Amino acid sequence: APACYARRPVFIRRGCPVILQLALPSPLRRLFDYLPPLGCNPALLRPGVRLRVPFGRREVVGVLIRTQQHSEVPADKLRAALELLDHEPLLPDSVWQLALRTAQYYQHSLGDTLAWALPSLLRQGEAAQMPDQWIWQAAPEARADDPSLNRAPKQQAALRVLKQHPHGIQHTNLARFDLQKATLDNLQSKGLVSLTCHRHQSKPRPSQWLHAAELPLNSEQQTALHALSAGLGRFQPYLLAGVTGSGKTEVYLQLIHQVLRAGQQVLVLIPEINLGPQTLSRFTERFNARIAMLHSNLTDRERLDVWLKARAGELDIVIGTRSALFTPLAKPGLIVVDEEHDASYKQQEGLRYHARDLAVLRGRLENVPVLLGSATPSLESLHNAQQGRYAQLKLNQRAGHAQPPKLLRLDIKSRPLDGGLSQPLLGAMRDTLGKGQQVLVFLNRRGFAPTLLCSHCGWQAECSRCDARLTLHQRQQRLRCHHCDSQRRIPEACPKCQSTELLPIGVGTERSEERLLELFPDYPVLRIDRDSTRGKHSMQALFAQIQRGEPCILLGTQMLAKGHHFPQVTLVAILEADGGLFSADFRAAERMAQQIIQVAGRAGRDSQPGRVLIQSQLADHPLLVQLCESGYFAFAEQALHERRQAGLPPFSQMALLRAEANQPALAEQFLQQACTLAEGLCPSASVELLGPVPAPMAKRGGKHRAQLLLLSEQRAPLHQLLAPWLAQLESLPEGRKVRWSLDVDPIDT
Ligand code: ADP
Ligand code: ZN
Ligand code: ZN
Repeated sequence: APACYARRPVFIRRGCPVILQLALPSPLRRLFDYLPPLGCNPALLRPGVRLRVPFGRREVVGVLIRTQQHSEVPADKLRAALELLDHEPLLPDSVWQLALRTAQYYQHSLGDTLAWALPSLLRQGEAAQMPDQWIWQAAPEARADDPSLNRAPKQQAALRVLKQHPHGIQHTNLARFDLQKATLDNLQSKGLVSLTCHRHQSKPRPSQWLHAAELPLNSEQQTALHALSAGLGRFQPYLLAGVTGSGKTEVYLQLIHQVLRAGQQVLVLIPEINLGPQTLSRFTERFNARIAMLHSNLTDRERLDVWLKARAGELDIVIGTRSALFTPLAKPGLIVVDEEHDASYKQQEGLRYHARDLAVLRGRLENVPVLLGSATPSLESLHNAQQGRYAQLKLNQRAGHAQPPKLLRLDIKSRPLDGGLSQPLLGAMRDTLGKGQQVLVFLNRRGFAPTLLCSHCGWQAECSRCDARLTLHQRQQRLRCHHCDSQRRIPEACPKCQSTELLPIGVGTERSEERLLELFPDYPVLRIDRDSTRGKHSMQALFAQIQRGEPCILLGTQMLAKGHHFPQVTLVAILEADGGLFSADFRAAERMAQQIIQVAGRAGRDSQPGRVLIQSQLADHPLLVQLCESGYFAFAEQALHERRQAGLPPFSQMALLRAEANQPALAEQFLQQACTLAEGLCPSASVELLGPVPAPMAKRGGKHRAQLLLLSEQRAPLHQLLAPWLAQLESLPEGRKVRWSLDVDPIDT
C-alpha cells in the first residue's frame, strides 16, 4: 500500500461513525474517505445521498456508500466534504442494489457505474426535484395599443405574443417565442404583464386507460397473455419467441394494460432510438397514459425531469434504450425488453453491461416479471428457457391475415451482378413494383465501394491507422475509414505505380442506389443508411413516405432491418448473405441468421404475401439451407448443439481482457504479465486462459490491440478470480503504458 495509508484509526466522536466512504466518478475500483461537512446532521448521512467533495484540485459530486468509524487515511490528510446535496437517498433500494451488483459483476468502479446510471445533471450536483416554473402572462385588461407602448414596438409585439397564450409562457421557453427578459421586465413595470411562480404539480392518473380498442387475440396470443397475466406481481423472466409479425407488440400492450389498471408502472426497453417514434406512437394510440421516452435529443433538464417523474410515480410508461434500464420507478409492475437478441443492448465502452441481463436482475430485485421478446431470440435466452430459468411462450403464426414470407436462396457464384443485383432478382423487383408494391433491398455496407484497386499493380487504398481498407464515397469524393473515421481525397493516380486506372471494387449502398436509379427510372429509390439520414428529421420523413404505400425501392443497411412495420413491402432482397459464414467470430452465424430473419420479416406483413430472395456465394451452405427451409428455431437448435460441443457460451462463461498501446509489444507484454498473474491466482485450471493474441483488427485508430480470453465452464471460479486479479493489474507498472479494459460476457471475441 502507498505510504500515506497508515493503519491507525482516525477519531471517534462519542461513538458516532464519522468517516464517509464515497464512490467518486473515477475509474479506480475503490471508495474514498471524507469527513462529514461541517455542522451536518449525522442522521441525514444515509447511504445513497450525494455530497460535494474536494478531489485533488477539483470539486466533484460523490455518492455516500457507507459510514464507518475508522479510516486508513491519516487524520491530517482527511478532508471534509463540502456540502450535502440530498436529504434522502437518490435511488430506491432496488436500483441502488442494481447499481452495486452491476459494478461488482462487471468489475467496474462503483463511482463510474453510478455515473452511467444517473442523469448527468445529478452527477453535476443539480437538486433532485422538479424545479418551480416561472410563468409570464399578460394582465387581463392589458392592450397592445396601450398609450404607454406608443414608442415601444418591441414591447407591443411581446404583449401580442403573450396575449395569444392565455396560459402564459414559461420563462425557460422565452427564446422559443423570440421574447427577451428585458422587454418583459419593462412591460411588468407598467403593470401590463405578470410573472408568477408555479410549483410543480403532477398530472393526475388517468382513470380510463384505453384510447383505442384492443384487438381480439388469436389463440396463440391468448395463451401467451394468459400465462403472462397469471405471473404478474412476482419475479419471473419470460421469453416471448414469436415469428416476425406474430403480434408480440399486441401481447405487450394488453399485458401493460393490466399492469396500468393495477396502478403500476412499466419500463420498456428498445434496442435503437430509430425505433422510438414507431413504438411511442403505438403506445400513445392505445393508451391514455403518462408516457415518456428517453431519447438522445432530450436536453439534460428534460432527461432529469423524466427520471424524477418516474421516481415519483408520475409517469405510467417509460420507454428508452439500454441506459433507461436504471430509471427508478415508484411502483414498478413490469419490464419489457423488445428485440432482446439485439447487440445494442450490450454497451461496448466504459461500463460494458448487457441491459437485457441487467433487466432480468432488476426484475428479481423489484419482484416483477421481465418480458423478453424477439422473433430471433439470442442463443443465451433460448438456453435459459431450456434450462427452465425463463418461461418460454411461442407465437408461431403471423397475426391477422399475414402469411409467413418464403425464403429463397439465389446462387450468385457464377452469375454476373449489376450494381450488386442478379438478373433473377431484378426480374422479381420489376414484377413487384409493377403490381404497385414496395421492394426492400438490404445491403449492410454503406458508401460506394469497399475497395479502390489499382488495376495495374494491385495496390489497394488502405487506412494508415487501421488494418482495414478505405471505403470509396463517390458523392463526397472521399476515401473514408469506417473504423477510425479518418478520411482523405481520392488519389488521381496509384501512389505505387502512378497508373491512373483505379477501379472501385465491390458494391455499397451508394453504388447500388446509383444503379437502381438507372434501372428503375420510374420509381423512387429511398436510401436509408447512416450517410443518407444525417439530419434529425430526414429519417422520419423517409418513413412517412414509405408508410404512404406507393411503389418504391427501399435500399438500406441494418438501420432498415430492425422492427419496422412496412405494410406494403412484399419483396425483400438480401444482396450478400455470406459474411457470417466466413467470420472467425463464433457468434457470426447467429448474427447472420438473426439479421436475415429480421430483414425477411419486413416482407408481407399485411395481407399480401411476402417473398425474400437471398443472394449468396455459398447458397448451399448447410446453415443457410437450414435457416431458409426450417426457420430460425431449427437453426438455433443446431447452433446451440455446436456451441455445447465446442464448450462455448452459453455453455461456458467468458471474460476478455483487452489492451491497446502505441507499440504492439507493450500491449502483449502487459497481457503476458496478466496471464502469469491469473495462473498464480487460479492454480486449479478451472479457468482456461487463451492468448494473448492480436485482436481481430490488430491495429485500429493508430493503436495496436491485443487480447486475453478467460474461459470457464462455471461462472463462480471465473468471477472469484476477477476481483483479486484486477487489483493486481491496477498496480502493474506495465499497465500504465497501455489502455486496458475488462469485458465480462463479451459479445465480440
Ligand atoms: P410483432 O411485434 O410480433 O412483429 P405486431 O404486434 O407488430 O407483431 O403485429 C403485426 C401486425 O399484426 C400489426 O399490424 C398488428 O396490428 C397486427 N395484429 C397483431 N395482433 C393481431 C390480432 N390479434 N388480430 C389482427 N391483427 C393483429
Ligand atoms: Zn498501381
Ligand atoms: Zn482507420
